[in-house]
Amino acid sequence: MLHLLKISRWAPALLSLAPSTALATPAENGSGGADGTALRALHCGRLVDVDRGQLLGPTTVLVRDARIAQVLPGRVAPSGARVVDLSDATCLPGLIDAHVHLSDQVGPASAVEKFRLDIADYAVRSTRYARDTLLAGFTTVRNLGDNAYETVALRDAIAAGYAIGPRILTAGVPIGSTGGHADPTNGYRADLAGDPGVAQGVIDGEDDARKAVREHYKRGADAIKLMTSGGFLSEGASADNAQMTVAEIKAVVAAARDYGFKVTAHAHGAEAIRRAVLGGVDSIEHGTYVDEEGLRLMKAHGTWFVPTISPNAYTFDKADQSGYFPPVVAAKIKAAGLRNLQTTARAYRAGVKIASGSDAGVYPHGENARELQLLVQAGLPPMRAIQAATLHAAQMLGIDRETGAVAEGKQADIVAVAGDPVADIGLLRRVSFVMKGGQVYRDDPAGGRDSAAHPAAADGPPATP
Ligand SMILES: [Zn+2]
Repeated sequence: MLHLLKISRWAPALLSLAPSTALATPAENGSGGADGTALRALHCGRLVDVDRGQLLGPTTVLVRDARIAQVLPGRVAPSGARVVDLSDATCLPGLIDAHVHLSDQVGPASAVEKFRLDIADYAVRSTRYARDTLLAGFTTVRNLGDNAYETVALRDAIAAGYAIGPRILTAGVPIGSTGGHADPTNGYRADLAGDPGVAQGVIDGEDDARKAVREHYKRGADAIKLMTSGGFLSEGASADNAQMTVAEIKAVVAAARDYGFKVTAHAHGAEAIRRAVLGGVDSIEHGTYVDEEGLRLMKAHGTWFVPTISPNAYTFDKADQSGYFPPVVAAKIKAAGLRNLQTTARAYRAGVKIASGSDAGVYPHGENARELQLLVQAGLPPMRAIQAATLHAAQMLGIDRETGAVAEGKQADIVAVAGDPVADIGLLRRVSFVMKGGQVYRDDPAGGRDSAAHPAAADGPPATP
């Protein structure tokens, strides 16, 4: 099983070499008991139990090295355990963002930077974006599209302690068709851009589709991302047209199964969504213009939906700024409005399985938790939104035996926030404590939450459509 291999890569095998971060006191990183184990007792004022969908009262989470040893009601302090006092806070599982772009940051300079930056520049920048993401409480992310597999290197660097960031499952370069949303040469001078192929993720036909999946295996990717429709931020005329055939999608999915890859499809238009579901993908990203048939098909096939409302909301505001986006891109964004809020509401009512992914990179990394606010604005109860970014995301990614809940045996991925995030989901934009795999990366003093690193709450969600 592929993800077992990944898990061994995730495991903090280099615990003794792991960084003692500047943001947590060394005492609380405690990886060095005399017997080689470190037992810590996290005294949580409350705990969000995502398995049962309940907010529990005072709870002790015992953490031994990288894993959760026990979850006990009340305050318990076994002998030899170091107490971590979170009694003024609510603990919840480390958050999961199922759709990020850790090596990119969209802005007015993006188009020109494609010509001026080397892949090494993107890779180095990604280390800061990864750090911002982890410190915002996201302990696991799925990267859905990079430039040249640089997030494979980022994933490995974080796992080995060379950089600080979340656990990463990466899809490497996205796969799409000539002129499609994944074609990196769209909008560029033809004689300079050339004709990209499978190595760049551009396929035409079933043979290319199979080769592209095998290339991902060879390059060390964890998942497959397809572009079955146009997109908003590429310089193509349509945001939603269908850009892959069902035969091509089926060829990708069949090859992906050989290697244990899950397949997700970026799909905005109804026909592209229909083809992706019929082609057998595991999940749909965006789903902007899904119709009733698409929702029915997703429900019938058990296809997950990742609504990505954040980029919709963020780019809509930026599209009016002269020079921020190329004109063809700005026009597509304005035409869509805040459609994804409505789409999410319809999908939820239709009973489609929803997991949270925010498309970070389209907006500033570290603001990921705004997606949970938007899910609530779209009509999900706050507990469901939290489950979408923990338990349900882990289930979709096939890693729920390892993370996604605060439960015995799982990785000690735990965050804490002042107040009650079930009553006020926006509090998740200000996490005060972050533990990933038993390592503490953030522990703000009680009452002195570090707002400088997270100017998060500055812009609220947009008005309800
Ligand atoms: Zn994306």
